[in-house]
Amino acid sequence: MHRFGEATRRVRIRRFASNASSYRVLVLGGGAGGQAVSSALSRRLGKGAVGVVEPASVHYYQPMWTFVGAGAKRFEESRKDMSDVMSSGVDWIKTAVTQFEPEKNRVATQDGKTISYEYLVVALGIQLDFHKVKGLAECVGKDGVSSNYSANTVRMTWKFLEDFKGGEALFTFPNTPIKCAGAPQKIMYLADDLWRKKGMRGNVNISYYSSLPVIFGAKKYAATLNQVAKCKDVNLNFRHNLVEVKGKSKEAIFENLDTQEKKTVKYDFMHVTPPMSPPDILKGSPLSDAVGWVDVDKETLQHKKYPNVFGIGDCTNVPTSKTAAAVAGQSGVLRENLLAAMRGQALTQKYDGYTSCPLPTSYGKLVLAEFDFNGEPLETFPVNQGKERRPFYFMKKDMMPFLYWNLLLKGRWKGPKMMRTLAHLGMNKR
Ligand SMILES: Cc1cc2nc3c(=O)[nH]c(=O)nc-3n(C[C@H](O)[C@H](O)[C@H](O)COP(=O)(O)OP(=O)(O)OC[C@H]3O[C@@H](n4cnc5c(N)ncnc54)[C@H](O)[C@@H]3O)c2cc1C
Repeated sequence: MHRFGEATRRVRIRRFASNASSYRVLVLGGGAGGQAVSSALSRRLGKGAVGVVEPASVHYYQPMWTFVGAGAKRFEESRKDMSDVMSSGVDWIKTAVTQFEPEKNRVATQDGKTISYEYLVVALGIQLDFHKVKGLAECVGKDGVSSNYSANTVRMTWKFLEDFKGGEALFTFPNTPIKCAGAPQKIMYLADDLWRKKGMRGNVNISYYSSLPVIFGAKKYAATLNQVAKCKDVNLNFRHNLVEVKGKSKEAIFENLDTQEKKTVKYDFMHVTPPMSPPDILKGSPLSDAVGWVDVDKETLQHKKYPNVFGIGDCTNVPTSKTAAAVAGQSGVLRENLLAAMRGQALTQKYDGYTSCPLPTSYGKLVLAEFDFNGEPLETFPVNQGKERRPFYFMKKDMMPFLYWNLLLKGRWKGPKMMRTLAHLGMNKR
């Protein structure tokens, strides 16, 4: 019997006979954060104690999409059936959550059911808002416009890059928080390298349009990336937000965020990073802050108002860069704090803001940015990670997927803190 077939048989998909059911821990979302937490907690609390509400049939390893868009990985390698990643110890409730009632310790779901809980973990990810840029939803995936951010469009990036005959190539960064803030420029560096290898870079004008005032938030890595962009002859345009795409005439309209002036730029290829926001069901919910992010303490990950509610990953207002690496760092903290809360003990684990952004700068080189809440480096290896390095590229491309599928999703990878201490022979301060 095929290994995945076996896993599929073991996962229990709950379809409730009555309209109500109850769990010790209910996890909302079966993405990176939901899987990491639910797997680990089900091992500690036993079978049937943890329920996961997740409507999707497929789980994607999204960090691979940069390489899929650049033709260095196949799309199929980034996906697995949800039943193959869901722990056999949890009940998978295959529907979407539609309403929160934290005063009554229960949620409502799309199939008209109510689920009660003792503890709730919210791991709903971030929403892609292609529709917020005029004309974008209609043309993304067609006529030279692509985005690595969606499973529906990532394969078109590679097709357009490969078929490109030269001209204007644009890469954008929106005026909202996004997941993996390095991804909008990663694909640009790989595209540059591809076109150089094909001997056609002289026919291409590459421009980066970002809403941010700088190339990257963490200063140490920004210094390297400014240099990389310069060497690659990339035109950098900061404080520019994409507000409209005219697919037929291949024109992108940007607003200068300082002067509000609009400028129209012709393109032959454009990689768009869409605006993003908290999932609609969180906006205005009792669990969310004024914007819609789940309102948690940035260190304990416990909800600021409801002590039996915790949040993890992209859907929270934890002020760090939204990545799977951050999810790893948060998952161990959340798990231990939630178990402590169950025992009536103080929450002692503190998340330090650890996040990571591996930035490939060509096919074969990568800057491994790792930093904390303040953008201060929290580097695992005892070398200068702000330099482009070859081993990091292969670590990201070939080792990270193994770590994600086999350790992170199973709740066995809490980030590289221990590795960092070992690699620095215990001499590191954090
Ligand atoms: C192109 C790209 C490149 C990236 N590169 C990197 C990288 O190099 N390194 C890195 O660490 N991270 C990277 N990331 C970011 C990383 O993938 C995310 O930060 C990570 O997946 C966040 O995990 P999460 O659990 O918060 O959200 P997700 O993994 O997105 O999971 C959210 C889950 O919630 C489910 N859900 C949504 N609505 C509902 C509902 N109403 N009810 C129930 N379930 C619901 C969804 O179906 C989904 O399964 C990248 C992402 C992209 C797109």
